[in-house]
Amino acid sequence: MALVNECFLKLSNNYLFSDIAKKVSAYKAANPKAEIIRLGIGDVTKPLPKAAIEAMHKAVDEMACGETFRGYGPEHGYEFLINAIIKNDYEPRGIQLDECEVFISDGSKSDVGNIGDILGINNTIGVTDPIYPVYIDSNVMSGRAGDNVEGKWSNITYMPSVMENGFVPQIPDHKMDIVYLCYPNNPTGTVISKAELEKWVQYALKNDAIIMYDAAYEAYIQDASIPHSIYEIKDAKKVAIEFRSFSKTAGFTGVRCGYTVVPKELTARTASGERVALNALWNRRQCTKFNGTSYITQRGAEAVYSAEGKVQVRETINYYMTNAKIMHEGLTSMGYNVFGGENAPYLWVKTPDGLTSWGFFEKLLNEANVVGTPGVGFGPSGEGYIRLTAFGERANCEEAMTRLKRL
Ligand code: PLP
Repeated sequence: MALVNECFLKLSNNYLFSDIAKKVSAYKAANPKAEIIRLGIGDVTKPLPKAAIEAMHKAVDEMACGETFRGYGPEHGYEFLINAIIKNDYEPRGIQLDECEVFISDGSKSDVGNIGDILGINNTIGVTDPIYPVYIDSNVMSGRAGDNVEGKWSNITYMPSVMENGFVPQIPDHKMDIVYLCYPNNPTGTVISKAELEKWVQYALKNDAIIMYDAAYEAYIQDASIPHSIYEIKDAKKVAIEFRSFSKTAGFTGVRCGYTVVPKELTARTASGERVALNALWNRRQCTKFNGTSYITQRGAEAVYSAEGKVQVRETINYYMTNAKIMHEGLTSMGYNVFGGENAPYLWVKTPDGLTSWGFFEKLLNEANVVGTPGVGFGPSGEGYIRLTAFGERANCEEAMTRLKRL
């Protein structure tokens, strides 16, 4: 008899986005003339940079010809893309990486979700709260999260990141083996300073912990003092894995490409105390379970680093960040407490008058026909906030602010 992985049965279905869709459809059915503005979207809306499109067209043509056709590529990615990443994303920040430390993938959701394959089941986990749900759910699936007690998993330490602590989560004094950090943060849009990140690296060194550093939104950082990579911190290579994505940087959400850095120095222990390099394990995992990102996609990603590609990527990010500025200024002038939106495409708005996340969602939908994402959907400390994103059209962001002013 085949048995299921019962850990999957512990997961509650994530109804957040379907609940939002249902409420919006019901409102639309009752108010067919209403023009709904969606500021909840977590997906990009602008097309790919032209340089990436041209490179992918060229790669398709190569596939059409016997001499240039490519079949299976290296599981960890083509050298041309790995070298472009090292040269452009790391060397200018004083970080040296070996080619074997960078693993190209089909996006960072897969890597963030799969990385647990190489780590023991008895590790304890820490997350800042609210957070991108994949970190928690993937650990529930593998049996590492424990039991759900009143909305929290028993083997997971939740570190609140809220207005009251300035979105600087308190580092606990107890030991956690694996800590997930995401900066710039989804959903709060807040960032971490070098000094705070240094504290985390020190914590990991002291406690023999590993930091999973998700930097999917690093391209949105505007403030030059904010770190883009955890490896800007001394000794971080001994304790951190870094995840990056072309999705929000260059519009690759539908094309699929990301990468993960697993430094050679990074180790974890066996139960008997022997140190094992995680780079070799991740390589082994990928070679067994992943057959590489498509050549065409990798050529597209490489073009993001060309001179034209860089200009085009910057233009799109500037567009989204101008949306963010318009919303940030608009909401602040209306008296809302607004966080994020300065180094990230997400704005995190405190609900007014003690409303719950869903209460404010309903108010915005019913009275302004604007859709946000209830913060509580990202974790218990998200209650009392709503997430707005800057990925929409400029005119819609402006119109949304006009409607909110009228509220
Ligand atoms: N990490 C964070 C924090 C995200 O918000 C997302 C996507 O929304 C991802 C990772 C996944 O990105 P990708 O499209 O590369 O899988």
